[in-house]
Amino acid sequence: MSDYPHLLAPLDLGFTTLKNRVLMGSMHTGLEETKDWNRVAEFYAERARGGVGLMVTGGMAPNNEGGVFPGAAGLFSDHDIANHRIVTSRVHDADGKIAMQILHAGRYAYGPECVAPSPVKSPISPFPPKELDEDGIEKQISDIVTAATRAQAAGYDGVEVMGSEGYFLNQFLVTHTNKRTDRWGGSYENRMRLPVEVVRRVREAVGPDFIVIYRLSMIDLIPNGSTWDEVVTLARAIETAGATILNTGIGWHEARIPTIATSVPRRAFTWVTKKLMGQVGIPVITSNRINTPQVGEDVLADGCADMVSMARPFLADPHFVAKAARGQAAQIAPCIACNQACLDHTFSGKMSTCLVNPQACFETELVIAPTATPKSIAVIGAGPAGLSAAITAAERGHAVTLFDKADELGGQLNMAKQVPGKEEFWGLVDYYRAMVAKTGVTLRLGATAAADDLADFDEVIIATGVKPRDPAIPGQEGPNVLSYIDVLRGKAPVGKRVAIIGAGGIGFDVAEFLVTDDSPTENLVEWLVEWGVGDPEDQRGGLRPEGPQPGPAVRDVTLLQRKAHKLGKGLGKTTGWIHRAALKMKNVDMIGGVNYERIDADGLHVSFGEARERPTLIAVDTVVLCAGQLPERTLADDLIARGVTPHIIGGADVAAELDAKRAIDQGTRLAAGL
Ligand code: NAP
Ligand code: SF4
Repeated sequence: MSDYPHLLAPLDLGFTTLKNRVLMGSMHTGLEETKDWNRVAEFYAERARGGVGLMVTGGMAPNNEGGVFPGAAGLFSDHDIANHRIVTSRVHDADGKIAMQILHAGRYAYGPECVAPSPVKSPISPFPPKELDEDGIEKQISDIVTAATRAQAAGYDGVEVMGSEGYFLNQFLVTHTNKRTDRWGGSYENRMRLPVEVVRRVREAVGPDFIVIYRLSMIDLIPNGSTWDEVVTLARAIETAGATILNTGIGWHEARIPTIATSVPRRAFTWVTKKLMGQVGIPVITSNRINTPQVGEDVLADGCADMVSMARPFLADPHFVAKAARGQAAQIAPCIACNQACLDHTFSGKMSTCLVNPQACFETELVIAPTATPKSIAVIGAGPAGLSAAITAAERGHAVTLFDKADELGGQLNMAKQVPGKEEFWGLVDYYRAMVAKTGVTLRLGATAAADDLADFDEVIIATGVKPRDPAIPGQEGPNVLSYIDVLRGKAPVGKRVAIIGAGGIGFDVAEFLVTDDSPTENLVEWLVEWGVGDPEDQRGGLRPEGPQPGPAVRDVTLLQRKAHKLGKGLGKTTGWIHRAALKMKNVDMIGGVNYERIDADGLHVSFGEARERPTLIAVDTVVLCAGQLPERTLADDLIARGVTPHIIGGADVAAELDAKRAIDQGTRLAAGL
C-alpha cells in the first residue's frame, strides 16, 4: 500500500475522475506573456508527466480592464484559442488535466482602466478604479463567461473562477470595497450577487461536463472582511449556481499578515478550510504552505479537505506526485517557500523560475541530458553551488567526487536552517543528501582538497564559497565581538544587549536568531497569536481585535548599516516587509547612516554623516559582524598558478549579492554543459 493513501486516491467528479487529490494551484509565471506556446506547453506537460491530478493555469484576464497589468495574458480571440490548444493537447497527450484560471483583478489591475464596485483605491496600487454602472457590470460578467467558453473551445478540462485574494469578485463581497446602494451592494445577498451570477452564467454556458472551480476567500485577513456565516452562505450559493469544486483563498493581497512565506508554519490555514467541510456537498480544496507529500496526506487524513492545492512545490519539482507514488519522497526537490525566484521575479517583471530548480519555466532551454563523453569531475565545496553542480553532472553520467572540509554537506545552508522561520532549509539539506546518494556522487567530507589532489581529474569545479569581509573597525578583535558564523553555528555565548554590524540578508537573519527563543514557525497557535490571526467565526475577516501579539524579545538588538536608506531595502521584494515587520515587533532598533568609530568594553561607538557628527555609544555586551562576504579563492588561485583552469562558481566566483538562487543556477547550468 502507498504511503499516501488519501493523497493518491482518485476523486470522482461524476463526469470525469481526477487521478489523485493533488491540484497544482495557479501561478503567474510570466510564461504566457512570452507567447512562446511551445515553451508554455512544455512547462505544463512536464508537470502532467509528473502525475499531478489537475493543474490550474496562471490567471488569464477576461478583458483588458481586468488584466493584472496592461498586456496581461488572456483569451481574447480565436487566434488565442489556437495557441492555448497547443498547451491543452500537450497536457492531454501526457495524460494530464488542466483548467484555465479566469482572473479579473478589479481594483488590483495595475493600470488606469481598472474597474471595481466602488471607486476605492487599493493600498497596493496607485490607480483609483472606476465605479461600474449596471451595463459595466453586465459587460464584466459576459466577458468572464466568454473567457470560459473560449477555454472550453481551447480544450481545457475546466476553469477556475478567481474569487479570492481581494480580486474583482472578492471586492463585491465586503463593505470595505463595495459601497454600492443598488442591487450589487448593501445587504450580503446583494454583495454576493456578482460572484454567484458569474458562476451561474459560466455553468449555463459550458454545460454540465466541464470542471468549474470557484476560489473562495475563506479568511480575508483585512479589516471589515467577511464573517464566517457569509463565507458559508456564499459557498452554498456557489454550489447551487453550479460549481464543481471549491478552492480556498487565504488573505487579500493587501493583508499585512504573511500567508505563504517560509516563516508561515506548514499547513497554517488548513483549519480554516476544515470549517467548511460538511457545509457543502461538492469537494473542497485547501491550500497554503503544503509542501511535502506527508503534509498533504496528513491534511486529508485529518479531514481538512477533499483535495490539496500546491503551487510553488510544482516549480521546485514537477514530478512531486510521481515520486511520492514511487516511494521516493526524499528525492522530491522541496519548495522552501522563499519566493526568491518565483514571486519576487513575477513582481520584478522577470520570468519566474525556482531557487531549487532552475529548469522551472526554462524547460526548453536548460536541458539536462545524458553525456556522450563521461569525464571525471572534482567539485570542491558542498554548498548549494557545488551540490547542484555535482548532482547535475552525476545525473548526466559523469564520475563526480565532491569534497568539503566540513563534516556535513550543505555549506551556508546549515547556517540558514538555524534561523527561526527558515526551518525549511533542513529539508533542502536532506534533499541534497538524498540526491548525492542517488546519483552516485563520491562524497569526501572532512577533506580539504589541495591542488595536488586534483591533478587526475578531467574537470575541476571550485565552489569554495565565501569568507566574511573584514570591516576593520578598531577594537573588533576584542572578546565582545563575534562573527555571524560563531553566532549561527551556536559556538559562542551572546550577551543580552547586542549590536549587529551590517543589515543585509545575514544581518537580518542574525537579528531574528538573537531575539527569538522558540520559533513560532514551529508552533501554529503561537504564530497565529503573534500575527493577530483569529477564527473568522469569532472575528470578521479573521483579524483579532487586539492585533499582533508577539512574544517578548529575548535580547535587545540594534541593527546597523552605513547606508542612509531604509534597512532591508535589498531583501526579497515580496518578503522584505515580513522580515522588517517581524523585527519591529521584537523592538529591534534599526539605524542607518552610521560610521563605525570603535568597539570597546562599553559597546559600539558610532557617529553620523560625512562630518562624523553626533558621537554615540550603543551600549551593548556583544557586537556581531555581518559585514558581507568576499570570495574564498585560495585553492582556485593555487590551481591557476599551476596552469590549471578550474570552473569557478557561486560565492567563490562573485560574493557580492550572492544567494542560493544564483549559486544553484550557476552550478546547474555549468554541469548541464560539461
Ligand atoms: P549583504 O547583503 O551584502 O550585506 C552586507 C551588509 O554589510 C550590508 O548591510 C552593508 O551595509 C554592510 N557592509 C558592507 N561592507 C561593510 C564594511 N566594510 N563595514 C561594515 N559594514 C559593511 O551580505 P550578507 O548579509 O552577508 O548576505 C550575503 C548574501 O546572502 C546576500 O546577498 C543575501 O542575498 C543572501 N542572504 C539572503 C537572505 C534572504 O533572506 N533572502 C538571508 C541571508 C542571506 P553598509 O555598506 O550600508 O554598511
Ligand atoms: Fe519555492 Fe523558493 Fe522555488 Fe519559489 S523559488 S518555488 S518559493 S523554492
